[in-house]
Amino acid sequence: MCKPNQHPDNMDSRIKAILIAEGSADIEPELLSTSKALVPGPSTAGPGAGVGSFFFRSGGHLVRLEHRRDPDATLIVRRIDEKAAGGDNVIIFYKGRELVRGRIEPALIHCPEQAYITLSESCIFDCAFCPVPKLGGRTKTAGEVRRMVDDAYRTGNLRAISITSGIERLPGEEVTRAVDLVKSLTKYNLPIGVSVYPTVDSSIRLKEAGAVEIKYNVETMDREIFGRVCADMDLDFVLASLKDAAGIFGRNRVFANFIIGLGESDRTVRKGVEALAGIGVIPILRTLNLHPLRPDLAKICPDAARPDADRLLRLARFERDILDAHGLRADVSETMCLPCGGCDLVPHRDV
Ligand code: SF4
Repeated sequence: MCKPNQHPDNMDSRIKAILIAEGSADIEPELLSTSKALVPGPSTAGPGAGVGSFFFRSGGHLVRLEHRRDPDATLIVRRIDEKAAGGDNVIIFYKGRELVRGRIEPALIHCPEQAYITLSESCIFDCAFCPVPKLGGRTKTAGEVRRMVDDAYRTGNLRAISITSGIERLPGEEVTRAVDLVKSLTKYNLPIGVSVYPTVDSSIRLKEAGAVEIKYNVETMDREIFGRVCADMDLDFVLASLKDAAGIFGRNRVFANFIIGLGESDRTVRKGVEALAGIGVIPILRTLNLHPLRPDLAKICPDAARPDADRLLRLARFERDILDAHGLRADVSETMCLPCGGCDLVPHRDV
């Protein structure tokens, strides 16, 4: 069993694993106001879409937790005197006992220090874990995105620009939207990363536009589960696109989300991580988020369950070893999820 430190203070990898496994915390609304993003509101991308969250930093690690008002929650965040606590402003209690101290960190756009922007907030694909097709959001205009980036830039805290998108009508249209935007955003001289569903020429077009990093999600490397959960996607095409991207963007610049908790075995995860690292791709092992808009997932994937802290730690350490064996580093990326690390145990950074 994964147990917290005997002497709770700063976050370490074990405590971060516990927080990620729990996923949500009770927090006072007044504390949330200190976490206010430049562009407030719930996330609009991927499995976390439609859910309010906040960021907690401690001991050099960052974690993102969903916020809820529930005095009986397993995790409870309480304010402490900042001066007396040497700069920390909250304690997180786990099952009634103090677990860790740290600070609530404000987001910029979606996450700290980045303008991480979703272009199309709807999707014609219907992956069974993802709320985006059910939310059916709108597509931002290029001018709107440029204004958001400009606002973030003027805070002086912007370190990277990240672009993602659902698929409003066609994957190629989203790629073109991203290419045009990247071209107009290079003037900021900041690293730009893009995560979209690939097309045959998306990598070369995005690279030539000025993107430095790319993410194409595999979602799972268990082919049987993939067939049930991501019926609209083509895993072989995504893998071929990732291999192609590694040749175009180079080492440590290509990533793929790989969800943990859909019923896959540890053995399948290990084989999948090895396969991805073998083609120069860094997998992002992402904890399954059981979203209230996707009750159908339980029928499609009866074994789906949020992984516990022990499993998250075990798989993250295994991934670090595999990346080392392939000469890959997860701590040099500049955009999207690896430098943020709010949702995952990042190899070389957290473990
Ligand atoms: S890890 Fe990725 S999805 Fe999670 S908060 Fe950070 S940028 Fe967002």
